Amino acid sequence: MPGTELFGAEERKEINDVLDSGILFRYNHDSLRNGHWKAREFEAELAKFNKVNYAHAVSSGSTAVATAMAACGIGAGDEVIVPPFTYIATVEGALLGGAIPVFAEIDETLCLSPEGIKKAITPKTKAVVLVHMCGSMAKIEEIVQICKEHNLLLIEDTAQALGASYKGKAAGTFGQMGCFSFDFFKIITCGEGGAIITNDKNLYHLAEQFSDHGHDHIGDNRGMEQHPIIGFNYRIGEINAAIGLAQIRKIDQILEHQRKNKKALHDALAKFPQVSFRHIPDPQGDAATFMDFFLPDEATTRAVVQALKNEGVGEFTGIQYWWDNQYHYIRNWEHIRSLKTPMKLVAHLLGTPQDYENLEIPKSNDLISRLISLVVKINWNDEQLATLTGRIEKALKSVLG
Ligand SMILES: *Cc1c(COP(=O)(O)O)cnc(C)c1O
Repeated sequence: MPGTELFGAEERKEINDVLDSGILFRYNHDSLRNGHWKAREFEAELAKFNKVNYAHAVSSGSTAVATAMAACGIGAGDEVIVPPFTYIATVEGALLGGAIPVFAEIDETLCLSPEGIKKAITPKTKAVVLVHMCGSMAKIEEIVQICKEHNLLLIEDTAQALGASYKGKAAGTFGQMGCFSFDFFKIITCGEGGAIITNDKNLYHLAEQFSDHGHDHIGDNRGMEQHPIIGFNYRIGEINAAIGLAQIRKIDQILEHQRKNKKALHDALAKFPQVSFRHIPDPQGDAATFMDFFLPDEATTRAVVQALKNEGVGEFTGIQYWWDNQYHYIRNWEHIRSLKTPMKLVAHLLGTPQDYENLEIPKSNDLISRLISLVVKINWNDEQLATLTGRIEKALKSVLG
């Protein structure tokens, strides 16, 4: 949780700017807000960092995904290709928007694979929602090519990938829209918050309108605004945006520390020939939030997870074994697999082209059952890092010899 590690005076200052005026709302009240527009400033910094024309902040990463799908015209009955390894919001966003998720295989990038996407395409496929998991990107060039060939929209769920890039181009700028989350666990945080980014002016306006009841945001009299479309309330508040503003200004510092600390973990793990690493198409564009590595089989992986715990690695960082995790892999999403909702979904009415209870995703199952991710933190000092890498090596030696 790097962003939260750096919470301090800068965040408090931005929050106080808002508290001093009492204008907690992101729109209007021009004369009362002492010139402070935190959501707007946050959006401008986010757009600049990603070298993209437009950014629009919303209330969460989940509502960013919902907003992106709506703005891009994905709705009732449209099939969207999604990964089985993601945060569950990607799939919920599709279902609640009336779309039908179609799960495709991931590869060693931990993201949807080009082959997996190709196999999942049907005449009803409207979009690919590509999730750049754990701070690094998918094989983006090939995936962009497939989307072009098959006339599919590409939405990038970049909730975990702020700061990741491919050949200098930011994650989230390869398709129609990128979607960020700034919840408490992400690389930078607003407390709760999210954003979409895009280079398309029309999509940007649809997104900012959709996320605020369709308001056109013209003028300083909310009651007199026009509503070109129907929308809902996915707005971010000024206090959350103020926190994000202070945090985005720390992103370069965060990335630098993460990359340095990740390298130390990598060097310790690389001493063991049984360990292999997640494939990163452009290593220079790794945001380095997680140190992801594979063991040869599930039994060895479980033994290593236990050994890492026994050696006290958990005192320094999170040890993620996603195969057992309740929120990131479809194996444990019983409610999604059986489509349990209090209301009827389009997916219930139309049925799904896949049997979610019996998905055939052997490649994904194999990879996730052998994957361990260590959270890379930024506040470790040299001594702590040396202790941590020592413990990691001791743990691996106890299992791998
Ligand atoms: C965190 C996350 C989200 C949802 O973000 P919230 O801000 O928690 O709603 C969506 N997709 C992915 C891949 C995420 O990691």
